[in-house]
Amino acid sequence: MKLIFELSKRGRKSFALPSLDVPEVSLEEYLGEHFRKELDFPEVSELDAVRHYTNLSKLNYSVDTNFYPLGSCSMKYNPRIAEEISRWEEFTDMHPMTPEDYAQGSLEVIYRLKELLKELGGFSEVSLEPAAGAQGELLGLLLMRTYHTDRGKEYKRKILIPDSAHGTNPASAAVCGFEVITVKSDTNGELDWRDFSDKLKDDVAGLMITNPNTLGIFERRIKDMAQALHEKDALLYMDGANFNALVGIAKPGLWGVDIMHFNLHKTFGTPHGGGGPGGGAVGVSEKLVPYLPVPQVEFDGEKYFLSWDRPKSVGKMLSFYGHFSVMLKALAYILSYGNEISRVAKYAVLNARYLRHLLKGCLLDPYEHVPCMHEFVLSALNLVQYDIKAIDIAKALLDRGFYAPTVYFPLIVKEALMIEPTETESVDTLRAFAKSLMEIIEEAKRDPQKVKASPEKTPVRRIKEVEANRKPVLRYAFKSS
Ligand SMILES: *Cc1c(COP(=O)(O)O)cnc(C)c1O
Repeated sequence: MKLIFELSKRGRKSFALPSLDVPEVSLEEYLGEHFRKELDFPEVSELDAVRHYTNLSKLNYSVDTNFYPLGSCSMKYNPRIAEEISRWEEFTDMHPMTPEDYAQGSLEVIYRLKELLKELGGFSEVSLEPAAGAQGELLGLLLMRTYHTDRGKEYKRKILIPDSAHGTNPASAAVCGFEVITVKSDTNGELDWRDFSDKLKDDVAGLMITNPNTLGIFERRIKDMAQALHEKDALLYMDGANFNALVGIAKPGLWGVDIMHFNLHKTFGTPHGGGGPGGGAVGVSEKLVPYLPVPQVEFDGEKYFLSWDRPKSVGKMLSFYGHFSVMLKALAYILSYGNEISRVAKYAVLNARYLRHLLKGCLLDPYEHVPCMHEFVLSALNLVQYDIKAIDIAKALLDRGFYAPTVYFPLIVKEALMIEPTETESVDTLRAFAKSLMEIIEEAKRDPQKVKASPEKTPVRRIKEVEANRKPVLRYAFKSS
């Protein structure tokens, strides 16, 4: 496809103005030294511009067009009704400074979502302020730090994080001033209990663990972890990015989890990707409530209001009250499932288990003996003898109309392919994907060069990833005719 600069023809315009009835001003004279002659803007007709952008949009890969099994990301279909409601002008036209008395409807949305998340997560209180999972982590860790400091335990500065964790976990802990201590995973893909117990010293502020973890495996000893941590006055942070495997079935708060972030854009009805906006609501147990950010939306029996009277609060995480459109979508999503919301978790797990079963034997499955939850991780190490790597399989899938699974994560599995089918895919799609993946693996054994040459059908073929990182070409230098 041509770039819009390449369509440019001198003098072509996409607008028509009436003839001038005032004296003409030269832009160059008017702007003086700010006038940049070297800027070579494309000159195109309106139709050229419309076609250009429409064609560009068709190059987009999306959940609306194809299957997107990108592990850890929950790229599921989100019902249109949530999008529709989030665009109602009664909400979108509300000024953020509107007095509380005139904003009762919007405040009620925030309040009701908060109450539902408390119920689903088993928490005492929820803050809806954070803009994404990673910001939820930051808030959760700030709460943890403030909790210990408030009790005169500044020396609690270490955070235990399993080696299977998502990269944002250690990053958030470091940003928050904690020292990260890595805990090993055992042969079942769960937290290694011995390593955990050995490292759980008095200076540990808490454990940050994902459940189900990034291998798609349920951490069965989560309650024991909570107990062991609480005995040392340390806290349990659960990364709730995988909550779509649990929603409506288990409440982490009841396991003894002290802090958990929800990824509203993974579990509750906001499409994930495209740069946001997202939502990283944080639920907490009773002892952390005083530290939550301001303001909290409260209800006094008659009126919804913003409560700023929180002397121990960590302050603000985001302007105003968080991403309101994401809250609307989450509320619409949860209410549209009603008391059948556990179907989300049941189908997320069923789909993953079925797909894993279909793929049995074609790649290595390092945790074959352990049932998976909503996702699973395979390894392409059995294809190394044909000089084929996980990345080659991923690229070949693109040619067959599928998005690739997450590759090379989690770090503890070599040549990892992390597959999350999500709850919204049909059995036909799962079978078609499994068939394509198995065909690619057969081809890799027969004709590895063919697989290594893929993708052939995508608008951009393989990029040189290292060079693209080290020497990015960020400026387009084309001279129009
Ligand atoms: C997506 C994800 C995060 C980070 O969430 P963002 O909303 O992308 O910031 C953290 N942990 C896990 C396990 C995730 O999958």
